[in-house]
Formats: sequence, structure tokens, C-alpha cells
Amino acid sequence: MATSEIPISQNFIHDIIDKDNASGKYGRRVHTRFPPEPNGYLHIGHAKSICLNFGTALKYGGQCNLRFDDTNPSKEETEYVDSIQEDVKWLGFDWEDRLFYASDYFGKLYDYAEQLIEAGHAYVCDLTADEIRRYRGTLTEPGKDSPYRSRSAGENLDLFRRMKAGEFPDGARVLRAKIDMASPNLNMRDPVLYRIMRAHHHRTGDTWCIYPMYDYAHPLSDAWEGITHSICTLEFEAHRPLYDWCLDILGQFKPRPVQIEFARLNVTYTVMSKRKLRALVENGRVAGWDDPRMPTISGLRRRGYTPGAIRDFCGRIGVAKADSVVDYALLEHCVREDLGPKAPRLMAVLRPLKIVLTNYPEGRSEDLPAELNPENEALGTRTMPFGRELYIEQDDFMENPPPKYFRLTPGGEVRLKSAYIIKCEQVVKDSGGNIVELRCTYDPDTKSGGAGSARKVKGTIHWVAAGGAIPCEVRLYDHLFPLEDPETGDEDFLSRVNPGSLVTLAALAEPALGAAQYGGRFQFIRQGYFAADPGSTPGKPVFNRIVGLKDSWAKIQK
Ligand code: ATP
Ligand code: MG
Repeated sequence: MATSEIPISQNFIHDIIDKDNASGKYGRRVHTRFPPEPNGYLHIGHAKSICLNFGTALKYGGQCNLRFDDTNPSKEETEYVDSIQEDVKWLGFDWEDRLFYASDYFGKLYDYAEQLIEAGHAYVCDLTADEIRRYRGTLTEPGKDSPYRSRSAGENLDLFRRMKAGEFPDGARVLRAKIDMASPNLNMRDPVLYRIMRAHHHRTGDTWCIYPMYDYAHPLSDAWEGITHSICTLEFEAHRPLYDWCLDILGQFKPRPVQIEFARLNVTYTVMSKRKLRALVENGRVAGWDDPRMPTISGLRRRGYTPGAIRDFCGRIGVAKADSVVDYALLEHCVREDLGPKAPRLMAVLRPLKIVLTNYPEGRSEDLPAELNPENEALGTRTMPFGRELYIEQDDFMENPPPKYFRLTPGGEVRLKSAYIIKCEQVVKDSGGNIVELRCTYDPDTKSGGAGSARKVKGTIHWVAAGGAIPCEVRLYDHLFPLEDPETGDEDFLSRVNPGSLVTLAALAEPALGAAQYGGRFQFIRQGYFAADPGSTPGKPVFNRIVGLKDSWAKIQK
């Protein structure tokens, strides 16, 4: 990515880096990392962190590592590792040869733990998880020392080695840091560093039956990789003293990395934790992690969002210390801005109503030229067949129109975009009274671009000719949840999924859309932006609506 495309503007983290560069603290080195836990697919919140970490490295000519925080084998899978790499690349970032795993360091982490024990800074504790919690105290009451806190270094070392050798059952013992049971910060009350867990690890297999905790593995991984600025979200603020303790206690890491916290991204009308997104997938509320309604990167990609639009969004939301919720409409605004000049504008009728032009000769047809995007002449033109039978949108006709309805009405006229003016002469209904066809006439002197085209009518509508029309499936999406904040109230967010969040239609598109393939993005005139779904086959495209044309964000800003 060119430095001119850096998605993130100056923020308080950059101010800190500027100071460090001025003082020479890290020798003007800037090294960040994006550290996902491979326990789910990435979401738009992670995109913020990716843009911040990789974007900051780009800005300062530094480096950013991709590191999998794979310290909890019970929830982690290779599928997630693969999808995360795909997503980061798709967003346009490059970790070059710096792909790491916390599990790369299991050996070193273990050795460092032995050093902590030998120096009297860690001990093996036999309390149960419940007892540890009770001994920890509360925000208002100090904790109580574990009865095992005074074990000798020799005894601790022996027990820790036997933990590693698999002599004790899961959960029987833990290794704890020996810090301060009266600390006002609960994270400093002898936090657990290692636990016994017999779980198959996606990379180390069954080599280990003890696993390090995140709070212990993370600072050391950062230090060993030469990270300078370890950027994470606010919930880790209270863990920072422990981060520093792990790096300072044996005095080995100078200058050590500094942890800096920023507010996580929340977006209206959706949930944003991997746990909740996994619940949606596992309970069949969505079709998968890449369901186009999901706020996952893979869902947004399938929906048709562009990496550029997501980077633009991440730049606009800014980086701050205070939690906030961003309007989903901003994300939609960003993709419209990106696609407006780029996407070819074509016609598709989503809910077709048949029109017969009674004065158009049977068996005749003509090819009408039309530009692909008036904002971008370079896209050129295509031709559309025009003939006696056509389709328009059902709601572009009303038998009993309200005032100011400028589309087609009985006896009324409308312009067919890039074609002719037509007049509705007769409404044909089935036995149930449903409108099944309109018999119309066209005015041959009103061809768009022709000599008679100056004649004006109030409405212009889109259409497709029956001959050559491509039958396609069109999927319209609405917010996954009808509530701005689906996380308020009880835990039962699953039951709140918007039942109208997916509407599938059998539509008809102009012939130029027949060859649409995955990756293709279009504006369907008057209907919004659409992307060809990976499930498209030659001659039978499937289109996902990315977003409609009405920009509520642009309106809010005015
Ligand atoms: P979740 O709560 O959604 O499961 P997580 O924080 O457990 O997310 P990680 O895989 O640990 O997910 O996150 C990797 C990085 O992405 C972390 O540095 C984390 O702080 C950051 N991150 C996660 N969610 C968000 C968010 N909503 N906004 C910004 N950054 C985020
Ligand atoms: Mg996490």
C-alpha cells in the first residue's frame, strides 16, 4: 500500500510515538503487531485495529507483525488462522515474513517461568479456581494470601516441572505470579500465569499439557519480537501494570514495549464479539461466518464491500480513548463514495411487471446505446436490446396513484431510461384482480439522444427488455438486528435477529449483467449497489445488495 493511502490520521497514539521518536527511546524504531486470537473470524472492529497497527507502521516507515495469540487450545482452530490471514491480506496489508504465533514461544515462556520461580516471583498454587476467586477479594476488600504462597523456590520448581510432565490432572494446580494480594488492582493479586489443560493444540499438538495465560504470554511475545508500541483495546488498561511487571521483574527488557489502549469500535444494529458472532453461526441464525449480513470481514467482502471502503471507514472513525458507537450508515456512506465513480450503472428489475408495447412491430428489436457511468466516461457505453415486450418494476405503476406520483399510471406517461416515452393504455388483471400486464404504446419520436428527445415527462424509470433478459437471484439485506443496540437488556440477543434481514427475489437483468462474476460490483439504477455472489454461475448470476442509494449519513452531515 502506498503511504499516500495510509488509512489512519494523526491521533493520540501517534503523539506518543512522536515523543518517543524525539527522545530516541527506541532509536526511532516503530514496530507494532496485530495479535488476533484464532477463535473466530475477524469483524469490522478488528479492521479498526488492523488499520491502526499496520497503518501506524506504514506511516512511520516501521513494521507490523501478524501474531496469533494461540494460548487457549480449547477454542482455537486452523480454519480461523487461515481466514484471519486472508482477511488481513484482503484489507491490503502485508506482514511480509513476520508471521508469528504465541505458541512459537511456548519453550521460551516456560524457561522464563522457571526463572521467575527461581527468583521467588512465582509459585505453584493448589487452590481450586473457585478458591482462588474467593481469596482474591473485591474492589473494596484486599485479597488473602494463598496457603501455598510461601512454598520454597525448590519446591515450586519441582511442582512446576511435574505439572509440565503431566503428573497432575487438569485444574489441579496453577503457577501464579507473586505480586501483591492487597493491590488495589485485582489483576495484580497474584495472577495465574500457567494452567494445566489437556487440549490438542492446532500447532503444538499434544506436546504441552500446561499453557501460559494471555497476560503472561503477550508482553513477552511483544518484547521478543522487538515490538515498541503494543496497541490494544481499553479493556486491557487495568492489565497494563501486569504487562509491565512481566517485563520489568527480571530487568531483561530495556527499553521494553509500551502498552497503549484505545476504544474499541462498536457499530449500531449489530453485535461485535466473536463469541456472539459464533453463536449466530452455530445456532443457524445466519448462513455462516461469511453471511453477507454479518459484520465480519468475510461477510462484508461477500456482501460486496471493498477493502478501500473499509479502510476509509476506519480512517474516518478516528482513534480515541473513550468508548463510542458508530452509526452503521457511515460504513454504507463509505462504500457508496468508493463505488459511485467506479461501478458500471446498469438496469435490473427486481419485481418484474410485464409491459407490451402494442404499437411496436412484432418480431422487431433494436439496440439502444447507454453510457455505463455518467460520472466516469472512461467506463464507456453498452447497448441494451429494446423490443415489444419489456419489464418494469411493479411499484413503478399505480392504478390509483397518490398526488405527486410521477411514475406510470393508467393513461399516464413515463420515460424509460435511455429509451422512449411510453403511455399506459390498458391494465390487464388475472381472475384474482392482480395486475399481470400493462398494454402501453411508445412514442417513436422520443428516443433518448434522438431528435425528439426534448419532449419531457416528469418520471423516468428503469426497465429490461424481455428478449435477452437474464434471470437472476437478488438478495436484499436489512440490519441483522432491528435495534440500534442489540446488546442492551437480556442475554437473549439471538431471538432478536431481524426476520426481514434477508429477502430473496427472482429478478431480471439486462444482458450485460449475464457475465457477472464474483468480484463484480455494479449500480443497479434506482436500486442501489450490488455485488455478484460467489454462488453465481455463468448465465445465472446471484447478486447481493451492498447498500441502497439513499445516503442517510450524507443527510445527517448536512
Ligand atoms: P472479541 O471480543 O470480538 O472476541 P477480541 O478482543 O477477543 O475480540 P482478539 O482476537 O483478541 O479479539 O483481537 C485482536 C485485536 O483486535 C486485539 O488487539 C483487540 O484489542 C482488537 N479488537 C478486537 N475487537 C475490536 C474492536 N471492536 N475494535 C477495535 N479493536 C478491536
Ligand atoms: Mg481477545
